[in-house]
Amino acid sequence: MAKLSAGPGDTFNRRGIMLDLREMKTLGIYVQVPFCQTKCTYCNFHTGVVSSARFAPYVNCVCGEIAGHWRLYEAAGIALPAAIADSVVDTIYIGGGTPSLLDPAHLRRIVDAVRCYFVAELMEVTLEADPETVTEEKAAAWVAAGINRVSFGVQSFCDAELQAAGRMHRREDVYRAAGILRGAGIANISFDLIAGLPKQTAASWRESLDSLVELAPEHVSVYLLEVDEGSRLGSEILRGGNRYSAGDVPGDDAMAEFYETACGVLGRAGYEHYEISNWGRPGFASRHNLKYWRREAYLGFGAGAHSFSGTERWANAHDAAEYVGAITAGRLPVEQLERLTAASALEEELFLGLRQLGGIDVGRIEREYGVSLDSRFARLTFAGLIEREGCLVRLAPGRVSISNEVFVELMK
Ligand code: SF4
Repeated sequence: MAKLSAGPGDTFNRRGIMLDLREMKTLGIYVQVPFCQTKCTYCNFHTGVVSSARFAPYVNCVCGEIAGHWRLYEAAGIALPAAIADSVVDTIYIGGGTPSLLDPAHLRRIVDAVRCYFVAELMEVTLEADPETVTEEKAAAWVAAGINRVSFGVQSFCDAELQAAGRMHRREDVYRAAGILRGAGIANISFDLIAGLPKQTAASWRESLDSLVELAPEHVSVYLLEVDEGSRLGSEILRGGNRYSAGDVPGDDAMAEFYETACGVLGRAGYEHYEISNWGRPGFASRHNLKYWRREAYLGFGAGAHSFSGTERWANAHDAAEYVGAITAGRLPVEQLERLTAASALEEELFLGLRQLGGIDVGRIEREYGVSLDSRFARLTFAGLIEREGCLVRLAPGRVSISNEVFVELMK
């Protein structure tokens, strides 16, 4: 990894050793911004609606956590493998919440902190943005800060669905914001859609997909509505009530059909379906998110941010005030810390790896973990749930929408 003689543009690690970036492992950085303008009815994330006066102190703490991460981890009992110190950061993902609410100068400080305290060769810097928050001034400042990818919370092109879900934007905001981003030079835009919103029908879902294809984003994520106690809409559905248009939520069969329609429409429009919920034009799969499914290392900063070092997983405290208090006091508020066993790492290889439609290399996994997976896969191959081609195993085409069933079987 170390080179022999220095030249212009050479990079050194924290121990002063010169690095050859081409030979280094890559590292992803995730930054969580847990603030929103309002709470969407279906939202089960730990985000809050707070005064904008709390944004700057929060960003100070995130930058402080980035600057002092090595010392903070050590004090919290987290042992970063040496390979991570010598990794090159190639992706940053600023998610939320609604990070596009922050002053662009705050976002710039975060990106600059990563550049300053890590060896960074940034290929993909993503900002999650809600359409109504996008202005020409902000978009220009984002590009100047180094942001080159925007993940857009579109969710639907149908105003009745957006209104029922408590979203702040409307269809025309999506068109306006997409035009601004293109004008500012953002050449990599991702749109999120949700299948299963209240008032959604087969026709309105098709309309959202067709509108999306017309706007030609480089990347698309399609999520199914999650029904659980964590959201106002979810708990209303579970108790059989009708607030938040809970009675107008499509059933499971309709949702499965919507997913299949998305697969058809996006496939015909030239998008590659590379992960259960994600499609990209060739060359536009999310470099950052691929790290999650490939079990590559990433460090998360901010309240509720998750990290993975290859051997340990941990998460910061979800409560933003608790996070700010702890970081201000010089302490990392770790909420969960898990040292992975060989068995749990193997489960992750299967569970996360098979989310990628390209499949997993079973030969590599068997060699690395010293196990044989033949009997586990034989059952699923026989049932037609997965297909095997030599060392490659993947979800069978047409079975992706029942992937949860496959995962349950696989873990038996
Ligand atoms: S914008 Fe996103 S994070 Fe914020 S409340 Fe809505 S769904 Fe939740």
